Amino acid sequence: MPAYTPRFWCTLILCCAWSLTACAADDSQAIRTAQTDATYATSAPTHTSSTPATTTTQTTTTTIPTITSTQPTTTTTVDEPAATVPSTTTTLPPPTIAITPRGIPVRVSEPTDQGWEVHDPCGDLVQVTKVFPVRGVQVVLDPGHGGKDPGTRGPTGLKESELNLKVSLAVSQLLQDKNISTLLTRTGDYYIELDERIALADAAHAIALISIHHNAPTAAKSNAPGTEVFAQTGDQESARLAGLLHGKVFEALSTVEDIQWTSRWDAGALRVVNSSGGDAYSLVRKPETTNALLEAAYLASPSEGAFLATDQYIKLIAPPIAIAIETFLTTDQFGTPLLERARIHNPSGGRRTCPLVELE
Ligand SMILES: [Zn+2]
Repeated sequence: MPAYTPRFWCTLILCCAWSLTACAADDSQAIRTAQTDATYATSAPTHTSSTPATTTTQTTTTTIPTITSTQPTTTTTVDEPAATVPSTTTTLPPPTIAITPRGIPVRVSEPTDQGWEVHDPCGDLVQVTKVFPVRGVQVVLDPGHGGKDPGTRGPTGLKESELNLKVSLAVSQLLQDKNISTLLTRTGDYYIELDERIALADAAHAIALISIHHNAPTAAKSNAPGTEVFAQTGDQESARLAGLLHGKVFEALSTVEDIQWTSRWDAGALRVVNSSGGDAYSLVRKPETTNALLEAAYLASPSEGAFLATDQYIKLIAPPIAIAIETFLTTDQFGTPLLERARIHNPSGGRRTCPLVELE
């Protein structure tokens, strides 16, 4: 991991959360909604600069539970200018997704007297005193691996988990620049259960979930990139998303010269199934959200792995991923057709221990 501090992540995620909420609607009501959420989540966060300083006088514990009901204007001490406070108040249901003070995305279970009950990255129910609600997520990006599970490693020592996160953050920024709201399942180098990644995406009610990975070589040298994107069996929209991602990423990587690529003979947009016929990877099989899993290139391969460790690679790979997602959301276009024949693969699974992640 680069030397990003918890404050960095918190600021980044809060800005994301802020922009998510703010662009969920297009009138002044959105401003009110965002301020309300932030105010009820905690004592005034730094990005609520439009909220008068009087918000700092309110106590969190007395106001948090009121988010469960119609918010009467008399219960809040926020003294907002009349121009930003519509005369009608909004009924906000409790959020399904939130960011904790340490920048960890979590599923929200329910408000409590002390704050909130949320699912931590292990999926366990825990109590936190503050959260920053996130609403209106369109795209969930899932940086593969993390923490005690680094994934594969490149020739420079770069961990796949770190590269996946870098690419996801860059894609997230590009999508937000296009006014497409995003949520990352993982925002730092910590472990998160596969099932919790899936539950986060489904709880966000997003339109698409894209899991971002880089491959390890069990493949031959090739003149062309070995980009693979896995689609969910029986889901035409998943096939469309996978095809768009494959087409754009493969095209972008193909412009790079002097790389010894690695590829399997059946690389492309495809299904990977186990011997029972179900999708082999749970990140593809289980989500209700339309999804695709991208293996952009081979990190563990000496020649291309060294290239993947450069900033040039991040600048090259993020735009085509973002364009593929935008195209998926805004058109009916298809990219690379799904291979008719599914690959057979039986992943080694097994129960893992899940280390605790500090939430606040
Ligand atoms: Zn991986």
